[in-house]
Amino acid sequence: MTTAKWVIDAAKLGELRDVPAGKVYLEDRSERVVSLPLVMFVLRSGDRTVVVDTGGPSDEEQIRQRIPFGYVVEETERLDKVLERLDVSADEVDLVVNTHLHWDHCSNNDAFRNAEILVQRAELDYAAAPNAEFLRAYGHHPDTEPPFAQCLDRVRALDGETEIAPGLAVLPLPGHSPGSQGVRVDTADGTFVITGDCVDTYANWDNAGAAVPSGRFTDLPAFRTSLTHLKGTGWKPLPSHDHMVVEKGAFGY
Ligand SMILES: [Zn+2]
Repeated sequence: MTTAKWVIDAAKLGELRDVPAGKVYLEDRSERVVSLPLVMFVLRSGDRTVVVDTGGPSDEEQIRQRIPFGYVVEETERLDKVLERLDVSADEVDLVVNTHLHWDHCSNNDAFRNAEILVQRAELDYAAAPNAEFLRAYGHHPDTEPPFAQCLDRVRALDGETEIAPGLAVLPLPGHSPGSQGVRVDTADGTFVITGDCVDTYANWDNAGAAVPSGRFTDLPAFRTSLTHLKGTGWKPLPSHDHMVVEKGAFGY
């Protein structure tokens, strides 16, 4: 029996600048700031193309309206340029997975017109009415529709662990948000897991041997349980906001 193997390309769709380190590394009390790339993953196997996370807006007007802090999209980091470079036609993508619905992970869902969009039901429910401190993270602003609400008609709500294609499965990783999920990807180079914001950077994954949650969460004990679970799988993590992921760019080939 043969099983499907996938290849993974990671591309940067803009970056967040001057982020206080304490938002990325729990209990980091230093004054330092970090920059975080927004990463989209393109998974291909045979004639199938799946996209995991779709970044933030690149439209100047939307950026001004929605994101009043350091967020920069270079010309080469715009979605259309990135897809061209990876030789992907947006219309050929049949599945989009959002690890969660914060604006920096789902703002370009509408570009993939033919794709079904896979989100955990717990995330959909929470995104509609988050606690006040997370309103902006989900893109709730007066007079504009939040990005996750752009194409709800194409969203399929998932309840827990689900195989979404041969060699590809999602698993719940709650903590950063209630319905955060990761994507397990089988490749010729072993099994990877796209972690979403359960793991922002490699420094979160391994800080002197231990995993460190980010400073942004809805449930810290759940966050720690998700990290412990991931550690136990032995899969290779692909963090959602690490420059090294972008620099390497290709996995599983
Ligand atoms: Zn997030």
